[in-house]
Amino acid sequence: MRTPNPPSFPSSRLRRLRMTEALRSMVRETELSATDFIYPLFVVPGKGIRKEVSSMPGVFQLSIDQLVRECAEVRELGIPAVILFGIPEAKDEVGSGAYAEGGIIQQAVRAVKKDVPALVVITDVCLCEYTSHGHCGIVRDGVIVNDESVELLAREALTHAQAGADMVAPSDMFDGRVKAIREILDKNAFPDLPIMSYAAKYASGFYGPFREAAESTPKFGDRRSHQMDPANADEAMREVAQDIAEGADIVMVKPALPYLDVVSRVKRRFGMPTAAYNVSGEYSMIKAAAKMGWIDGERVMMEVLTGIKRAGADLILTYFAKDAVEVLRRHKG
Ligand SMILES: [Zn+2]
Repeated sequence: MRTPNPPSFPSSRLRRLRMTEALRSMVRETELSATDFIYPLFVVPGKGIRKEVSSMPGVFQLSIDQLVRECAEVRELGIPAVILFGIPEAKDEVGSGAYAEGGIIQQAVRAVKKDVPALVVITDVCLCEYTSHGHCGIVRDGVIVNDESVELLAREALTHAQAGADMVAPSDMFDGRVKAIREILDKNAFPDLPIMSYAAKYASGFYGPFREAAESTPKFGDRRSHQMDPANADEAMREVAQDIAEGADIVMVKPALPYLDVVSRVKRRFGMPTAAYNVSGEYSMIKAAAKMGWIDGERVMMEVLTGIKRAGADLILTYFAKDAVEVLRRHKG
């Protein structure tokens, strides 16, 4: 083991290495860097649109022209990747906008890859932003059906790949979707396109502000028939194992903060590139408390991100990415 019992006091004084910042920096175990982050962005139809999400200060719905500018800035900051969520012009029962060749995400990917080719563009693959009922798949007699929905998700992933996406990220939590996406990508000459699966995604109250940003609140019912029960961690291991077996290249735990034990177990058990999604509610809580003057927002942000990395995340999807990089630069400068 890496941590034997230290000799006892007074030959051991653990404070010795905490006395100055120089000493602390020498023995620091976890260090954040810009390359840890993936920045989520929301794309809307139109031109010149930059509309702040009221429950997520600093987060905007962007039209494609604004998105491209934002992506250039993200790349400039040294953040390697963005993940795109789309809000379509129109919604319908089967979420056609999700897998239309000229859909909002497909257009957005083309535009970003043209102007900021070095940026890794990841696309979220789900139907909930595109269905009139706001569910992640096809609904029949009030039940969200699995296999038919998976077929549509695979089609969606393929259109993202064809538009030039560098990675696809299925977020639905239906069974067998990673396999279906891997197969359709392989069959269509995208064998090298990686999949980041939302492998252990919990039915969480922390998604509230996101649903305002992505306009994806379900019109009836909830997502508990596919997303995981917050009480379960062994089941998360089965979910992750299944996604890896089906071809996931990166596995994600979502949300991050209430599930750091799951992040830690996934990293230790599978040794896979592991991502954690520091979700909207986690972001908004810090922003709100900081605004009230109850916490030091910047300090708490850095502590939270460090904690997620320390737990075992190699990658952190976070709305704080740009702010955190500014802080890192200031400290280095
Ligand atoms: Zn969904």
